[in-house]
Amino acid sequence: MKTVILIDEDLASREAMAGWLTDAGWRVVVAEDGEVGLDLIQRHPPELVVCDLLMPRCNGFQLCRTVRKDPQLKDKTKLIVTTASGYMTDRLNATDAGANECVVKPIQRLEFLRLVQALTTGETTLLTRKSTQDNIRFDRPPNVPALPLDDPVRLRFWGVRGSIPTPGPATVRYGGNTSCLEVRADGEIIILDAGTGIAPLGAHLAQEFKGRSFDISILISHTHWDHIQGFPFFEPAYNPANGVRIIGFKGAREGLASTLSSQMESPFFPIRMQQIPANISVEEMRDLKFKIGAVSVEATYLNHPGLCMGYRINTSCGSIAYLPDNEPYQRFKYHTASPETANSVESLEYARRQDQRIVDFIQGADILVIDSQYDATEYQTRIGWGHGCVDDVVALALSAKVKRLFLFHHDPRHNDDFIDKMAEWGSNFVTMLGDTLPVECAREGLEIILPRPQP
Ligand SMILES: [Zn+2]
Ligand SMILES: [Zn+2]
Repeated sequence: MKTVILIDEDLASREAMAGWLTDAGWRVVVAEDGEVGLDLIQRHPPELVVCDLLMPRCNGFQLCRTVRKDPQLKDKTKLIVTTASGYMTDRLNATDAGANECVVKPIQRLEFLRLVQALTTGETTLLTRKSTQDNIRFDRPPNVPALPLDDPVRLRFWGVRGSIPTPGPATVRYGGNTSCLEVRADGEIIILDAGTGIAPLGAHLAQEFKGRSFDISILISHTHWDHIQGFPFFEPAYNPANGVRIIGFKGAREGLASTLSSQMESPFFPIRMQQIPANISVEEMRDLKFKIGAVSVEATYLNHPGLCMGYRINTSCGSIAYLPDNEPYQRFKYHTASPETANSVESLEYARRQDQRIVDFIQGADILVIDSQYDATEYQTRIGWGHGCVDDVVALALSAKVKRLFLFHHDPRHNDDFIDKMAEWGSNFVTMLGDTLPVECAREGLEIILPRPQP
């Protein structure tokens, strides 16, 4: 006779299932909590275990994992998990933990017995799901372009803060959301980074395109929290008619798709990235030049821990360079090199060439948005943290002859008054150097228009 171990804290459920299974010819052993149940399972390996997800002393996820790790049990024992709630994420987590099936209470007798029969005679397949995938592509043709092709180019800041969101009275003017910019150019909506600023942007887009589907592209600079954390709250991703193309580069570890979906795994978030209804594609680029519709995009590696990309978006109305997290090389190298090599010609020449590479990348850009998290005094105690200071950023912008400079990635400790002073200092520094480059601080809600060139 086949044995089933039935573990459920709820007496009524236990008695009902025990009766059905006994009538169906099973030897039924019952337990009220997970720990006792697990002990029974290990001492008398059964053909089948039916356990609830939420049990005292050892929950259903733990129990499944333990059974699947046990060499005596892992192939022999089938596992059915029961749950009162039926949340999709709980069901997926149960199957990830090793359950063969997950049944939502109240359980119907016939359906339950059919499932038991199928499972224990090998008629059913496992509810396994692939949890991550690289380079997921759209599975349907794209939507028509979201915007008229001949509109002027618009840039709007939705999140300008680095590191961590910083709401509160001291940051109302510049804003507390983390990195997110919206660029509308040549028929495309391109989003730069998915920090918490992407949440209000998503709400705005959903309102604007009410009833009309659209595609957008999100360029990810890197996967530090302040650049991806808003994505699970991006409203257009929850409309199945929309297309969301996420573009980035391989990071130091896992693929981009798996890194992005890992922040949505339980226990961090209630639904998984794979459950998002929009047509999502995740593309890891290999080439440093590519196209988004008619817009050509260039990418370059920045100096930041892990791996961080800067982007230059070349549109029909001019170019926008976005270097969200970057520590210019020269002072960094000077301070971090060993004493013997710090002042060596080779070391300084190497650092100069690296900064020149950035200067070439941003050369002549109409707009430069660049990491200037610190002022020069603060930077002295933050060398090697992966961020720049106003003075170095101004020097880079002047060398590259950019037309408009926006200080970005504001430090969470900087209040509005401090950020005002940074812009003022940047402007004074430009004047001291005999130039007229406008220096501003990026501010949430600020919109810049690049007009269409006159023919
Ligand atoms: Zn950052
Ligand atoms: Zn970062």
